[in-house]
Amino acid sequence: MDPAQLADASRLRTRATVLHADADSFFAAVEQRDKPSLRGRPVLVGGTGPRGVVSTASYEARRAGARSAMSMSRARRLSPAAAVLFPRFEAYSAYSRVIMAELGTLSELVEPLSIDEAFVDLEAGPFADDPAGAATEVRARIRERTGLAVSIGIGRTKLVAKLASDAGKPDGLLVVEPADEDGFLLPLPVRAVPGIGPATAAALERLDVRTVADLRRQPLDILTMTVGESSGVNLFRLARGIDPRPVAPSGERKSVGAERTFAQDIFGTDLIAAAVDRVTDEALRRLTAHGGGARTVVAKVRFADFTTLTRSVTLPQPSAEPAELRAAAHQAARAAGISDSVRLLGVSFHNLSAHAQLTLPWDSEETVPVAVDEPADGPAMLGLLTEQNARPGLDIEHESLGRGWVVHVRGRQATVRFESVDTPPARSQVLDLDADPLLLVPPLPRTLDG
Ligand SMILES: [Mg+2]
Repeated sequence: MDPAQLADASRLRTRATVLHADADSFFAAVEQRDKPSLRGRPVLVGGTGPRGVVSTASYEARRAGARSAMSMSRARRLSPAAAVLFPRFEAYSAYSRVIMAELGTLSELVEPLSIDEAFVDLEAGPFADDPAGAATEVRARIRERTGLAVSIGIGRTKLVAKLASDAGKPDGLLVVEPADEDGFLLPLPVRAVPGIGPATAAALERLDVRTVADLRRQPLDILTMTVGESSGVNLFRLARGIDPRPVAPSGERKSVGAERTFAQDIFGTDLIAAAVDRVTDEALRRLTAHGGGARTVVAKVRFADFTTLTRSVTLPQPSAEPAELRAAAHQAARAAGISDSVRLLGVSFHNLSAHAQLTLPWDSEETVPVAVDEPADGPAMLGLLTEQNARPGLDIEHESLGRGWVVHVRGRQATVRFESVDTPPARSQVLDLDADPLLLVPPLPRTLDG
């Protein structure tokens, strides 16, 4: 296609009416909200064992250098004062529902991207003439109902809206008017552009392309030679702010996954197992971004002769535990009976569940089922707290002392804080579980009503 045609922006809307909303350090912010003693303190949410990985770091922990996707042991060393907490997906889902409901008041066209992130098309709602007003109002309402900060970016395209909400973080609102688009886009590093992953960024770096301005100077044929036909065309357009993707409410997501085509076919048990690991890493990253767990794990294998087959493993219950999902991916790949050279490997997660912790994801190989189905008429009782099922951050309740959360349990000694979203911060206290049994309970939904 001819470059002039590709660069044709005439199909773009003329007003900045695509809104991107993204809660700030969402999991950690929910924990600080529900656990008043942690407000203003560094918090790390993720796997709490020796091989755990950080899902979200609070801004206080980020100042010390902790980041999501970093190993928890490294994050702990960087931020030794941080509270390290086990994820509570049920609580995050409850907050997410409020955020999405508020965004839904702006327009019928809301496209959730993950548990705490969505595009909204303001052209389809009552705020097409006042995008900044809509954003200010919805941020205030979300803060009022959830106590959470949501950063919002607004632009003519999804690309600009997403980059603007990133640029506005934390707790920011940035409207990029069409006339200001180049001034905003051109100085940005190409790595900031969604869709430009590390491999593409490295290929561009070899062309001395580091910013969007550098990218715009590249002729189309150089880009397609460097990163392939379709990626090259995409880059050419993104560099000019051209992104005609509509905001598309897609309903429930059915699956998330990743696949990889190898530059050279691979063979041999060890190489294939290592490749399954790498593809699973990427699939798990997307599952985490989606926010939840999965029950079925599918491995897809394409052989050198292009025959393709898939094999799946279904777990007894949905899981968000990386080790368990990874083991299932390996099992599914082995079930494919690979005896030939492999050209492509894929791993995907299906039967997705918003509340993944029907098995609480542990850090060891064991998986201890804790939850039972929630009865319709009240909160589920998850059982008595023990050293085996204790994980830092889980909700507990004491007969007379009320609600709180687990700091840690050693033997029959439980360290807990009796505090929740609307109480003052509480000191930690040690209870003897034989004298003071504690119940594991689901997160409180009530402050989110209304
Ligand atoms: Mg976020």
